[in-house]
Amino acid sequence: MTAGRPSKRATRAASIGLAAVVLCLGGFSFFAAYSTQSRVDQVLLSESLSDKYVSATAAIRTEETAELEYLFDPTTEHLAALAAANEALIAAVNAVAALGDRADAQLAKDILAIHDQYLAVSERLLGVMSTGNLSEARRIDQIDADPLFHSMQVLVTAATLEHQAAADTAFAALLRTASWMLVAAPLVFGIGFALLIVLWRILNRHERAMAKTYREIEQLSRLRGEFVATVSHEFRTPLTGIQGFSEMMRDEQLTPAEVREYAGDINKDAQRLARLITDMLDLDQMESGGVTLNVQPVDLNRIIVETAALFRLSSGRAIELHLDVLLPKLAGDAERLSQVVTNLLSNALKYSPGGGDVDLRTTRDGQAVLLTVADHGIGIPAQLLEKIFERYSQTATTTTRALQGTGLGLPIVRQIARLHRGTVWASSESGVGSVFHVRLPLPGPVPVARAA
Ligand code: ADP
Repeated sequence: MTAGRPSKRATRAASIGLAAVVLCLGGFSFFAAYSTQSRVDQVLLSESLSDKYVSATAAIRTEETAELEYLFDPTTEHLAALAAANEALIAAVNAVAALGDRADAQLAKDILAIHDQYLAVSERLLGVMSTGNLSEARRIDQIDADPLFHSMQVLVTAATLEHQAAADTAFAALLRTASWMLVAAPLVFGIGFALLIVLWRILNRHERAMAKTYREIEQLSRLRGEFVATVSHEFRTPLTGIQGFSEMMRDEQLTPAEVREYAGDINKDAQRLARLITDMLDLDQMESGGVTLNVQPVDLNRIIVETAALFRLSSGRAIELHLDVLLPKLAGDAERLSQVVTNLLSNALKYSPGGGDVDLRTTRDGQAVLLTVADHGIGIPAQLLEKIFERYSQTATTTTRALQGTGLGLPIVRQIARLHRGTVWASSESGVGSVFHVRLPLPGPVPVARAA
């Protein structure tokens, strides 16, 4: 795992956390809605129940009044009004029973029982009235009917008061719930949203890390593909040469001078193949840590002088040397450092096909030695300067393609510099030339780090 990228476990925890927060917020919303709604229902029920009781109280009064009116004025209208008041009272009490709970139903039953007694009394009263005995009728009203009305009133009034009190309590509870919601809801949702943002950021980071990894894999696979194509081409070119020249030597009558010339060509191609294979194996070994340096005191100037002499001979090009004669010896592997000089010098010559001086310079730079190789060649585009030290990365321009290479020379230089605790970097301008710098620390106190 790359440092700074969230681990799989953290990502799974974040996903679970995200789901949990969403569930909690959902649960809280449901609880808040449910408890508020049930409080409101309670208030509404208590209020409409006390309304029913108030109606029942009114019905009792109406019936009592209707009876008195009939008593003092026994017309058929008053009789009908009394009958209607009877029905209305029964309906009001039944409404209480239908809306209320078991206690209300029992209360309604008790009132209706008393009302039944009243109906019997009322029948008796009507009978006496039909005989014209008004004083007996008034006596029945006062002695038998009034106490029954009174009992019904007492029961209904007590229940009415009780339900009004219940309605007040339910309303107070609703107010309490509402004020609690006002405080708790912003708090809970604030914390919930903060958590959601944090978790979302963790997941987002993970997604970006994954996307980056995919891009890296894609780039690597593309580079490998390009490398295989380049290397196949590199192998095929000398092999074709070897095949062609050897066939000519086999099939044609050649003079000894021609045989020598073709053998020389075959040898050159074979050497090129050998270099390619050696470079690939070398870089693989260095990258996997399988190379140990043969460390000795090394005179870098001497390596440069010898390598430049060889290249002057083979290329016929001018190679300028500006060497610090007081340069201290390095502690390093002479063969590997010679590989560094060879690769940089061969690149400087190769990538300046139009000619121009190639310049090698050594200087002391504090507790380190600095080697620079400069040319006046094709240069390197700025956006590719970082990439040229990466494995398989050739700057694929038409010119560089024509100049045969495997893209392994500079990665090898970088690996060797690293093995010597050194650094390598390049500066260049397209079409003007390039300068490669290698900084190698001297033995002794640990050198001060410098940006590469
Ligand atoms: P190659 O075998 O292709 O030369 P290197 O690893 O040595 O591989 O170089 C990588 C790439 O860097 C080259 O393909 C070339 O495009 C670029 N390069 C290296 N040295 C120079 C230079 N002196 N001038 C211009 N381009 C260079």
